[in-house]
Amino acid sequence: MPAYINEIFNSIQGEGPYAGIRQVFVRFEQCQLHCGYCDTPQTRSISGSCRIETEPGSGRFFTVKTPLDREEIYDFIRKLWTSSTKHVSLTGGEPLLNSDFIKKLDIEYPLYLETNAGFPEKAREIKDIISIASCDIKLPEHRCTQDYPGLLKKELETISILNETAETFVKVIILPQTTTESLSFAVDGVESIDINIPFILQPVTSDKKVPSSLLFELMDFAGEKLKDVRAIPQTHKMMNLL
Ligand code: SF4
Repeated sequence: MPAYINEIFNSIQGEGPYAGIRQVFVRFEQCQLHCGYCDTPQTRSISGSCRIETEPGSGRFFTVKTPLDREEIYDFIRKLWTSSTKHVSLTGGEPLLNSDFIKKLDIEYPLYLETNAGFPEKAREIKDIISIASCDIKLPEHRCTQDYPGLLKKELETISILNETAETFVKVIILPQTTTESLSFAVDGVESIDINIPFILQPVTSDKKVPSSLLFELMDFAGEKLKDVRAIPQTHKMMNLL
């Protein structure tokens, strides 16, 4: 089964506890959500083409038509792998929409999944081949969906499934208008699964800065119930990386 991929490149992971780790990024197209802060809006629908980095980390690309089959993608990943590269990041868009494809990827590199966690049934299909899972929990103020309670339920189920087999952490984007009340949906949800799951607050990258006083307040609020609360910004943006 072929897949619609938007880009394949080698860069440095800039989010969460693995910030600083070199990865080959495979960015899938299509996403069921429409977050106001999305920094990859071009991936929400199928474009029909994919850009491939010519040399690892060069930032230069050539374009191929999509969909791409497993052999083509494997070949591009292999050519972009380097001695310091540690994982293949399956990102998007929403990679779980391609669980049928991921299931058959069958490559020797550890898989790092970056998901909005909205598809528990698809997460179950691939949980055994994922090494590390970065799972979002969206907040009401992100305005990602018309059915926030429904999305939250699916996210928590997905996190619970992936946490059985993969090293799993939760990422929550913090906006200037985020409150302890809105964050409580995520905090209480993770508390109900496993209080040891790393809980990452990621201040949104935008002109409107999240005040440090708000971050401290939210960290302490989450820390009352969860064991491992951290605030980590998008470091790849600081380094002008993809
Ligand atoms: S889930 Fe991710 S890719 Fe989808 S709209 Fe939200 S930020 Fe963009």
